[in-house]
Amino acid sequence: MKFQSFIAAALSLAGVATAAVSATSTALGSGEELLLTGAHIIDVEGKQVRVGNLLIRDGKIAGHLDSPPAGFEGKVVSLDGKWVMPAFVDLHTHSFGDGVPGGRPDALGTPQVANHYLYAGTTAFVDLFGDEETLVDLRARQRAGEFGGADIYASLSCLTAPDGHCTEYGVPTRTMSTPDEARASVADLAKRKPDVIKFVYSPSDDQPSIDLATLEAGIAEATSHGIKTVIHVKTWQEMREAVEAGASAITHTPRGDMPTDIPALLVAHGAVSIPTITVHNEYLNYFFDPAILEAPMAKVLASDRVKAAYKNPDMIARYQPSFDERKARNANTLRSVGALAQGGVTVLLGTDGGNWGTVQGYSVHREMIKLVEAGLDIFQVLDAASTGAADFLGLDYGVKEGAIANLIVLDASPLDDITNTQAISGVIKDGRFVDRASLLAPAQ
Ligand SMILES: [Zn+2]
Repeated sequence: MKFQSFIAAALSLAGVATAAVSATSTALGSGEELLLTGAHIIDVEGKQVRVGNLLIRDGKIAGHLDSPPAGFEGKVVSLDGKWVMPAFVDLHTHSFGDGVPGGRPDALGTPQVANHYLYAGTTAFVDLFGDEETLVDLRARQRAGEFGGADIYASLSCLTAPDGHCTEYGVPTRTMSTPDEARASVADLAKRKPDVIKFVYSPSDDQPSIDLATLEAGIAEATSHGIKTVIHVKTWQEMREAVEAGASAITHTPRGDMPTDIPALLVAHGAVSIPTITVHNEYLNYFFDPAILEAPMAKVLASDRVKAAYKNPDMIARYQPSFDERKARNANTLRSVGALAQGGVTVLLGTDGGNWGTVQGYSVHREMIKLVEAGLDIFQVLDAASTGAADFLGLDYGVKEGAIANLIVLDASPLDDITNTQAISGVIKDGRFVDRASLLAPAQ
């Protein structure tokens, strides 16, 4: 797939706005307690809901209580009639900002994007390729407490062939042609502690690709460093080969009918799918269904320039002739993702934010709608977006004792209607309520 919007200038600008204005949550101090009372608490992994009280201590879930403990001295927040569930994680984005069809991207910068994510109830995201130096620096500074927002995770680089996909954006990335070069490149990148390692494996593409032996060597080297791999593929055959090569995750959904052996192959190898339905079909939806960008969350997270671009009559006219063809392709994507899930594959949420047809933060909610349309069970969808995605990063999200207290408070049940994930009345990160309004202010 050609990702039209990903413009080099924006990527290299990602670090310009480095100091986010909002001082967001830091972990609760020793002994600091928060008690949420009366909420419907959604246990995504246990696939159940119970009404009760949730005790949070030192940034972690400390237990479920039938009634507030006698003499409780911590903060008590009444959430009668509200719904509480684990916060979201986006496993595939490019955090420089938002793509703008027909124009320069909105280069919000990673700190502001981190704020937008947190506003939208997402407490962590994985940047799957941007400027490596910028991302190393920003991730370190965020972890040192210099700014807040959703937690930054990153592949830091995109490992690809010389002139392969990822090299077209003018941002430095790591290229390789042989197994030895792949091993050396991964070993060098591993020193900078990427949270995952991304490879482009797409011999079917017009652009050059690494060959299978190079991919196998790179994956083996990453695995020897204990780092998971995410492989960008374009065809089902490429997905098959990447899975057999030991990939931890495959990202994107190939076109065409999925061969019937694919789900069992992923299950047998323990590989997960990050299908990024959003980037495959929202591009069309944004142009032809204006209501999507009229949603309250979209209104505040998408800039006027982004919103105007999808109303541009010239652009709409350009895509009108291919509408039916694209719509059929999108239906096929949904069928494939549904069949993957039906076949027992763990499907996890990624948006490919930064591209056209995405809005950082908001698209997490759009991807959940797409996963429901693909036929996933509602708890599967919530797991894909929260506990499951977090688990891929080695993070314990959820409502069980000991889990990180990254939670969202909703006005209505997402089990009844997935669009209710957008009805956020509160976000709790590391055990503390976040000041959401401050997250919308521009970074300085
Ligand atoms: Zn991507």
